[in-house]
Amino acid sequence: MSVVDVAGNLEAVMAEIGAAARQARRQTGSVTLVAVTKTLDAQYIRPAIDAGHRVFGENRVQEAASKWPALRQERDGLELHLIGALQTNKAVDAVTLFDVIESVDRPRLITALAKAMDRTGRRPRCFIQVNTGGEEQKAGCLPGDADGLIAGARAARLDVAGLMCIPPFDEEPSPHFSLLAAIARRNGLEQLSMGMSADYATAIAHGATHVRVGTAIFGSRRP
Ligand SMILES: *Cc1c(COP(=O)(O)O)cnc(C)c1O
Repeated sequence: MSVVDVAGNLEAVMAEIGAAARQARRQTGSVTLVAVTKTLDAQYIRPAIDAGHRVFGENRVQEAASKWPALRQERDGLELHLIGALQTNKAVDAVTLFDVIESVDRPRLITALAKAMDRTGRRPRCFIQVNTGGEEQKAGCLPGDADGLIAGARAARLDVAGLMCIPPFDEEPSPHFSLLAAIARRNGLEQLSMGMSADYATAIAHGATHVRVGTAIFGSRRP
């Protein structure tokens, strides 16, 4: 097992975020780094927490439930984002566990989340996920359905903070980031979760307020 310098990697990523923000004439503090810890055991996550990082992302409810309640016991002020697909029957678990749900992408899920929030009294912020590439296998609503879904989420009294996208793996991401920014603008949404290890600087140039970075911090994941 190779040793990954998590604290050093975090510092390097934060420096690059700062440089990209300055280049875009934006404040460094306007970009939040969501450190993606999917597949990592708690022992690999702790170095990031010890280095002072507080905002993390997971893509599966059950996996997150197995790690984060204990980590939260160890440290106050952690903020956890769900960045993966969510099934309606896990809505209660999701609103209980997460502070932000970035993968809201269909009317039935909005209904389930609204009910789960009423039941639990928890109201995590939500991002609407948009499938900007219209990829068959990918989660997210189609760009043409986004305005309606945002309106539906607001009508259900979800706290809609912004939009999220995952561009097609094999395409230049800029047009996808621009499209997401345009949908946000016309809907009065200020937050944009876009950009991963390979393209977060580009995403910041297009207005990302949240970048989701795993590999560049923690090293490559086991397949
Ligand atoms: C895994 C994942 C990331 C992080 O990807 P890296 O390339 O490791 O930075 C970001 N967003 C989502 C939705 C992911 O599932």
